[in-house]
Amino acid sequence: MSEAIADAAKKEFSGVVGFHGCYCLDIAMGYRVSKALMREMGDDMKNMKDVYAYVGAPTCAVDAIQKMTGCTLGKRNLVLTNTGKSVFMMQNAKTGKAVRAYCHYWDHFDHVQLREQRKVAYAPSATPEQKAAFSALLDSQVQEILVADEAALFKLGFVTLVPSPRSSKYVSEACGVCGEFAKADLLQDKDGKKLCAECVSASA
Ligand SMILES: [Zn+2]
Ligand SMILES: [Zn+2]
Repeated sequence: MSEAIADAAKKEFSGVVGFHGCYCLDIAMGYRVSKALMREMGDDMKNMKDVYAYVGAPTCAVDAIQKMTGCTLGKRNLVLTNTGKSVFMMQNAKTGKAVRAYCHYWDHFDHVQLREQRKVAYAPSATPEQKAAFSALLDSQVQEILVADEAALFKLGFVTLVPSPRSSKYVSEACGVCGEFAKADLLQDKDGKKLCAECVSASA
């Protein structure tokens, strides 16, 4: 990697950290995953109105996906599949091309040392040395993720996904209890009334 490219990557990564609001291992992983998925998608990333991102769990890494790929919750082209797995996918719904990454790096990762040093560093009695030791450890682990071979972090593969759920027309309807409007297909039948999710959980 040339010096100039390394600097550009550093700048890009700090932009991702700034967007996320914290410097952590998972944002570094999300950055690496985004780069790999976008590279594999190639020209299929060009027409963003056809591109969707799928994430298995709501983690720090998802912010890297949002910042790097431009797929966001607000644009409805970021889908939380809620499998609870460290899986990230990009799909072009028009061409059908889709790439999947599973981050196996965490399967055997030992979080204990970092967690213990974080606890010490954030305690009211923490000394400047303890704080410095924690940030040095965090930084070395983040750097490790940033320079690791992709194969050491995640497994990449092409997959076939069911066509992404085109964002349906937003039809809203009043809840039979509170009267507030909600997306119609999210109202639930209860005792002959259609209730919003908030009223359903309040009456449970
Ligand atoms: Zn984070
Ligand atoms: Zn309601």
